[in-house]
Amino acid sequence: MTDLYIGGTWTKPADGGQRGIYSPADGSLVTTVAEASATDTVAAIRSARQAFDRGPWPATPARERGALLSKVAGLLERDRAVFARAESGDTGKRLVESEYDVDDSVACLRYFAGVAGTDAGRVIDTGRDDAISRIVYEPVGVCGLITPWNYPLLQATWKVAPALAAGNTFVLKPSELTPSTAILLIRALEEAGLPAGVANLVLGAGPAAGAPLAEHPDVDLVSFTGGVDTGRRIMAAASATVKRVALELGGKNPNIVFADADFETAVDFALTAVFLHSGQVCSAGARLLVEDSLHDAFVDEVVRRAELIRLGGPYDAEAHTGPLISAAHLAKIEEYVAAGLAEGAVLRCGGHRLDGPGFFYRPTVLDECKQGMRVVREESFGPVLTVERFTTEDEAVRLANDTEYGLAGGVWTQDAGRAQRVAGRLRHGTVWINDYHPYVPQAEWGGFKQSGIGRELGPTGLDEYREIKHVWQNTRPRPQRWFPAN
Ligand code: NAD
Repeated sequence: MTDLYIGGTWTKPADGGQRGIYSPADGSLVTTVAEASATDTVAAIRSARQAFDRGPWPATPARERGALLSKVAGLLERDRAVFARAESGDTGKRLVESEYDVDDSVACLRYFAGVAGTDAGRVIDTGRDDAISRIVYEPVGVCGLITPWNYPLLQATWKVAPALAAGNTFVLKPSELTPSTAILLIRALEEAGLPAGVANLVLGAGPAAGAPLAEHPDVDLVSFTGGVDTGRRIMAAASATVKRVALELGGKNPNIVFADADFETAVDFALTAVFLHSGQVCSAGARLLVEDSLHDAFVDEVVRRAELIRLGGPYDAEAHTGPLISAAHLAKIEEYVAAGLAEGAVLRCGGHRLDGPGFFYRPTVLDECKQGMRVVREESFGPVLTVERFTTEDEAVRLANDTEYGLAGGVWTQDAGRAQRVAGRLRHGTVWINDYHPYVPQAEWGGFKQSGIGRELGPTGLDEYREIKHVWQNTRPRPQRWFPAN
């Protein structure tokens, strides 16, 4: 059984709790890990607090912090196969996808290793010859990092890398469903020589193991990726101590196809946009908005190809995508599809689970959807594509923006002017033109509206983990005589 990591020691949970992790592809037991209670999380917070207040890490030169992150990146490269297998075991995703996730995590570590020492603040021109004014950056303090199950290693790395680059200490709480790669990441940090107490790991359910990270006064910042309801709860809990809050929440992302789009490429990407990782992607292009004149031909082809998609476990070389994460998630997808059909959507393909072990659900296309339907408005987070028609550019933009979310969207057209106009009007944090899903660690990622607060990655992703301090020095101090001396 893997224990919790507190104060540089692998530690048994106070009440001896444990949890089995089961493969979503076949239900087999993957591993058994410790299950933390709030007592353990508070112990981890204390360890992170002590390491921040009295340990060497916050004052370690940024260049050295960057060097440690580079070392960790090298360890992930060395152990790529181990990380990928662990990720696929927990999530059921294809091994090749897990390998890409490891590569992306390495790129993220290297990016923050590179920027760690590059920006030491700035000098202000005060207009006086007797004052020096500087802006300096300092770590925020103790960070609570809470991550979801769809990209467990990547989401943890997106938080851990900038947190460490900026000189913070942290407590990481991965999803209780997918802890294995977070454990491996912590082992890599340990092997790279991170001082004790800087990194802490608690495993377990959100309300017990995670909630103290939002509530406890010794945590300075909570960075959360997950569902919007949990995000609201975390924000409310964090408000009691006015913590810094960063939220990466869900999306209900539009993929807009104009009639002049390159047909072959747009169809191909319409499938990838929504069915990658069986739709369990926060930026999934789950709402296809297609120009009326193109609708029939386009949707026919999307449906034909969706029916060709083969489902299978992580080591099935024939499979194109894998299972849903849990029985509860599968039931939720069934409920959304049923609700869509009850509200008048037309089922073009899929719409059912597979028999046998594992939580497999066929790629599903619901045509003739309308903006008010629940399946259009709420995030299903599964392999369900809703299709709506539009006739004008204005209508496409209106439909695309008519959502409480604002994470990402795609625009397909060969008219460069229209592409830029539409991209400019979309109220979403990422817009892809004639592409879908790519991202790079140099570019900010995050949402408008209820998709979140703040940004991960890019220079802003580092700023999230830094306090800004203004230091003013009077170099020729003398009385000001604003008030009389006698
Ligand atoms: P979730 O909100 O159920 O859980 C996320 C994490 O929060 C887990 O570690 C969970 O244990 C923890 N948690 C739950 N309740 C908590 C509480 N009261 N206090 C503290 N922690 C708590 O989300 P999920 O089902 O794991 O992930 C799916 C969601 O994540 C989707 O909505 C998806 O869109 C979103 N997501 C967003 C992004 C992004 O970048 N915006 C990326 C990936 C996933």
